Amino acid sequence: MARQDAIHGTRPQPLPRASRKYPTGRVCAQDGCKTRLSTYNKREKCWAHAEMKVPRLRGRKPAAGSA
Ligand SMILES: [Zn+2]
Repeated sequence: MARQDAIHGTRPQPLPRASRKYPTGRVCAQDGCKTRLSTYNKREKCWAHAEMKVPRLRGRKPAAGSA
């Protein structure tokens, strides 16, 4: 039994050139959100309020019986 399988699939992640840190103590820009942002997080909002999470509602209108 060879245990070399574990080696496969393991990719060494390249280290960032310069560890640019952001000021500490920052919180989410969302009003009312007190989530602290990481010093490595360049976003102004936490992961929950970041724009990276966009709901897939485009082109799909709710078939609500609104009159
Ligand atoms: Zn937030």
